[in-house]
Amino acid sequence: MIDHPIPYGHQFITDGDVQAVVEALKSDYMTQGPGIENFEKDFAGYLGCRYACMVSNGTAALHLCALALGIRPGDKVITTPITFVASANGFRYAGAEIVFCDIDPDTYCMDVAKLEEILKASPKGTYKAVVPVDFAGYPVDEEKFRRLADRYGFAIVVDACHAPGGSFSDSRGDKQMVGNCRYADLTCFSFHPVKHIATGEGGAVTTNNPDLYNKLALYRTHGITKNPDLMTKVDGGWYYEMQELGFNYRITELQAALGISQLKRLDWSISRRNEIARKYDEAFRGMDIRTPFRAEGITHAFHLYVIQVGKRKELYDFLRENGILSQVLYIPAHTMPYYRQFGWKEGDTPAAEEYYRHCLALPMFPSLTDEEQDWVIEKVIEFVGR
Ligand SMILES: *Cc1c(COP(=O)(O)O)cnc(C)c1O
Repeated sequence: MIDHPIPYGHQFITDGDVQAVVEALKSDYMTQGPGIENFEKDFAGYLGCRYACMVSNGTAALHLCALALGIRPGDKVITTPITFVASANGFRYAGAEIVFCDIDPDTYCMDVAKLEEILKASPKGTYKAVVPVDFAGYPVDEEKFRRLADRYGFAIVVDACHAPGGSFSDSRGDKQMVGNCRYADLTCFSFHPVKHIATGEGGAVTTNNPDLYNKLALYRTHGITKNPDLMTKVDGGWYYEMQELGFNYRITELQAALGISQLKRLDWSISRRNEIARKYDEAFRGMDIRTPFRAEGITHAFHLYVIQVGKRKELYDFLRENGILSQVLYIPAHTMPYYRQFGWKEGDTPAAEEYYRHCLALPMFPSLTDEEQDWVIEKVIEFVGR
């Protein structure tokens, strides 16, 4: 018997994290200081990419990608309906027309075959960007998107808000960390409290492309640069130039301190999440519950542990009555009233809609205790078994 509510996700803050923030507070910088650069270096080093651009949140990260790619009103961008709406919205901010591609019924991520059908139907260059989402922490095969990108001419922006620490193996069998941008042009992350690294609000974009990186950095701070190599002239030591209409999408030093401290535990967090997943898998074996698929060679980052069940609504209510705050993630984005105005409707992406009818995310976070997980398992089995 557990007498407190168990959420589907929760941050994990140690005394070391608290100490790191206190030190940042006592330093000379609250923002735009060395801590942010250190977080960028550590994060890029961990993932194995050239550049990381830390920003105020994951949605800002997606919007900056749209700006860096020069997405203009009316440009077409493809994403998946099974995601948090920000994956689409970040590109809408730049005026893009969003096209929703259906999901693979195994991985719940964008279906590469269905993507190719969409691409084939229009001339090369029709779509400016494709935004696959590493849904629930499942790392998409970025190499497959690269092959299509080379053929049909679009930029790949991976929304990896669910998947820092995940990896996939490419056709040569080489392990590719999510966010290393070996195949993707840009990759986005979020540091919202339910995500793997929790800085309150926060996000990042990674890339290996220096031109894209310079644009990300420019648009993050009002379109202002102080880099002499990028300015049209230099009047003196004070001189800077505003070259584009940018935003204030900066992260703070306090958040960077939290991020640096938590990044050190990311590997542990991924293995703990996988341990929790295996225990759920084991407990639900042989029951009328579909557990998450994993292909050979991937490291699933398990932001979410999503099951598919028959009486989903009833199970959701039953778990709530027992203090288990499971969650339905996500309502297909194309069925939102906002996206309906562009003509999207039920039936447009059948696999995504079928997924939505049965999905339920069970509690999954590294500080979930064995007793809490046992309680969740007991209640799920009590319901499904009867
Ligand atoms: C959390 C999340 C975002 C947005 O991140 P914020 O930091 O909350 O702005 C974008 N995409 C996905 C898939 C997410 O889960």
